[in-house]
Amino acid sequence: MPGGVSSPVRALRAVGGDSLFIDSGRGATILDADGNQLIDYVLAYGPLIAGHAHPRVVAAVQEAVGRGTSYGATSRLEIELAEQVQARIPSVEMLRFVNSGTEATMSALRLARAATGRTKIIKFAGAYHGHADMLLVKAGSGVATLGLPDSPGVPAGAVADTVVLPYNDTAALRDAFAASGGEVAAVIVEPIAGNMGVVPPVEGYLTELRTITSAHGALLIFDEVMTGFRVHPNGAQALYGVSPDITCLGKVIGGGLPVGAYGGSQSLMSEVAPSGAVYQAGTLSGNPLAMAAGLATLEVIAADGAWQEVAARTEAVAAGIAERAAAAGVAVSQHTAGTMFSTFFAEPAPRSWQEVSGADTERFATFFRTMRERGVFLPPSQFEACFLSTAHGEQEQRRTLQAAEDAFAEVARRHSG
Ligand SMILES: *Cc1c(COP(=O)(O)O)cnc(C)c1O
Repeated sequence: MPGGVSSPVRALRAVGGDSLFIDSGRGATILDADGNQLIDYVLAYGPLIAGHAHPRVVAAVQEAVGRGTSYGATSRLEIELAEQVQARIPSVEMLRFVNSGTEATMSALRLARAATGRTKIIKFAGAYHGHADMLLVKAGSGVATLGLPDSPGVPAGAVADTVVLPYNDTAALRDAFAASGGEVAAVIVEPIAGNMGVVPPVEGYLTELRTITSAHGALLIFDEVMTGFRVHPNGAQALYGVSPDITCLGKVIGGGLPVGAYGGSQSLMSEVAPSGAVYQAGTLSGNPLAMAAGLATLEVIAADGAWQEVAARTEAVAAGIAERAAAAGVAVSQHTAGTMFSTFFAEPAPRSWQEVSGADTERFATFFRTMRERGVFLPPSQFEACFLSTAHGEQEQRRTLQAAEDAFAEVARRHSG
């Protein structure tokens, strides 16, 4: 396997140290193959909002697997999960399940181009929407972590219609639409950026996006693959009161199994085959095990106050980390969004990829390695979000903050000045 991994960031290249081989996960912790127990703030890069091996999720998957692993036909679980998504996100009147976030965004763009009869798409620097060719330009997540230029193997033609703008820059947006708004099929945005670290939109930015796309007949796509049920129980669109034309989902709605979905109004989604002519298919799409895990996960966080508790714990852990940094005299800034947060070795808190990319990755690497030695596993990059789950309690918080105290002391010692 290239780099010994099935996805690049897992090789820990940006932070150094041995790569991680996991034996098992339970609640807030993972157990590696050498027997080290680590408090996990990666949570499979977001999906595990109920923690590892939550008993309800395990039971749901066990129940499902006994009924067969895939049918090539619609099952009750798909309908139930679709209903649960729709109940939380009213702009999703109709949806299609796929197998990953990459498939969701790729399919959403095909639909947007078909529906508008236009080809141009706008994305933002530092945003990650999966690894489809036309979106692999100035991408966040692993692309940013490894400092890769736009990937070889992506033909110029595939990205010729992709316009990249700086995130949170209203003037750049207005200029782009003034220049060629009539050619834009869609703007795709992470409503809260999570793949350059957590960077929320500036006041009014999403509203401006909604207004300008509507005015020019372009569609607005919210890529909520990460934010979906992590930043608000009803998604970022509820948090900001802005309704997109298409919503992409993944991660949490699969509860740790492979899943994605895209949806929107009934009239728009009716253009997807077989109702309409826009082709998109998947052998394992709507997989019953994934549906079962997703349903159980949504149930766990819908329990009275459960989601709010995770958000409160996230706030407390983030605040505690900031306090430890200040006490050690290490300059950091933070953004918190619901159940995820980022600590940047940069000040003030960044608002764009350009600002994020100025963060001190050496300090982050020292911080990461010391945290790992002290039994806390953080995302192995300054440009990935930290995630919490219902399993992250008082004890995990205390141990994390103790580790952070040591880690910031180490950062101060090694990178003084
Ligand atoms: C993770 C992610 C994707 C890609 O999802 P995969 O399931 O890894 O293909 C797309 N968009 C956003 C915002 C993501 O965080």
